[in-house]
Amino acid sequence: MIIVDIKKGDFINLLHVGIDDTDSPDGMCTTYLATTIINELKKNKIKINGFPRLIRLNPFAKFKTRGNGAISFKIAIFNNQSTDLIKEIVLSNVEKLSMTEHENTNPGVVFYQGKINKKIEDYSLKSIHSIITIEEAEKLAKEVGAEIHKFKKGRGIIGSLAAIGCPLEDHTYELITYRTKKNHGTKRAIKYDSVISMNTKTYPETFENIDDDYIAIEPKTSCPVLYGIRGETPEILKIAKNIVKVNEPIEYSTIFKTNQHTDIHLKKVDKIDKMEKYGSYIVNGTVTDNPHVITGGHVFFRLSDNSGEIEASAYEPTKDFRKTIKKLIKGDQIQLFGGVGCGGTFNIEKIKILSLNKKQVFKNPKCKCGKTLTSAGFKKGFKCKKCGFKLPNGEKIVIIEDRELVENSYYETPTSARRHLSKPLIRN
Ligand code: ATP
Repeated sequence: MIIVDIKKGDFINLLHVGIDDTDSPDGMCTTYLATTIINELKKNKIKINGFPRLIRLNPFAKFKTRGNGAISFKIAIFNNQSTDLIKEIVLSNVEKLSMTEHENTNPGVVFYQGKINKKIEDYSLKSIHSIITIEEAEKLAKEVGAEIHKFKKGRGIIGSLAAIGCPLEDHTYELITYRTKKNHGTKRAIKYDSVISMNTKTYPETFENIDDDYIAIEPKTSCPVLYGIRGETPEILKIAKNIVKVNEPIEYSTIFKTNQHTDIHLKKVDKIDKMEKYGSYIVNGTVTDNPHVITGGHVFFRLSDNSGEIEASAYEPTKDFRKTIKKLIKGDQIQLFGGVGCGGTFNIEKIKILSLNKKQVFKNPKCKCGKTLTSAGFKKGFKCKKCGFKLPNGEKIVIIEDRELVENSYYETPTSARRHLSKPLIRN
């Protein structure tokens, strides 16, 4: 991306542009719309400053289409030059390309000229941690002097303002390639072997590429994205793109700076009862019942501390992670990372084992002949089916079984089930 040349004596002000809620499950993608806008700005000799930003917001927001992502970028404005052309390009593209015919697509655009202050940052973090109303976003925009543009209900201003204000101390990058219009909605022609080769050559500087046979860089929806590669630096993403081979034209590609895979959504709380619905947390507690599986393959157990108790779950899409969760037993001390969904259940993203309880199993005693004794009937002790030996007053023996989990270790959901904001252990 082009960095603007700043000359001595120039008065520079940054114009921040935020865009959100332009797509629907039937198509479009706010990153694609932003790329179209950035390209048109470029044609008009307007360069954006640094990388455009893809900011993921609260994973539990009700009206999200998919990953609750919003976009922002900034443009250096020299010596009070007019911003009219920039605004016209942004607004006309949002109006023209957004899927406004869909009931739940309510685009919003925000322009903000100046420094990002604490108020905007705090608002942005709040939109990652909890639920915000359109009125709240409007109120903040008024307070800080941001210009808002609402299309239909204009719910997108919530995310647009948040995308502008999100601090990115920890950050990653995503390189997204886009398909030509005629290919939208058709099967993507990505050479899977080349993705595996890219992963072998660039992991862990790139991550979330594959998960056994699952090619994670390829979206499963009919959006304009051909693939997205996630990584630590723009440089490694360019190398990775050169390794991935496709059998269809790439219309354009853009690298976004992003809060994906940083755990920015997780707040540490010292008590279970401090957690609220739609928030994401790191919390410690004791397992109070052995995990059980319900229809559909979802695994549940309860976690408690001296303030209360919560139901925790590893849902079916988390695949083998459920096997780990099933190994927990009553009395284990663990740390959970994840969020509280609309039903009040804690959706686990990762766990750390703090301490393991002793796992006692009760077994029948062995006979002198080596065979394991069987029950001789209610309160009648044991008998040997092989040699006929009887042990009328015998009791079961307690055995301490080895635990397969390891104290102080972390376990995480697989790539295929990972939330956009969730930090993979490889990034620790
Ligand atoms: P995609 O990832 O495919 O671009 P999406 O999942 O980001 O789509 P949007 O179409 O952008 O979904 O819709 C999300 C809507 O939710 C937007 O209007 C956005 O402003 C709003 N929103 C985002 N975060 C919050 C929040 N914390 N509270 C309330 N509304 C929110």
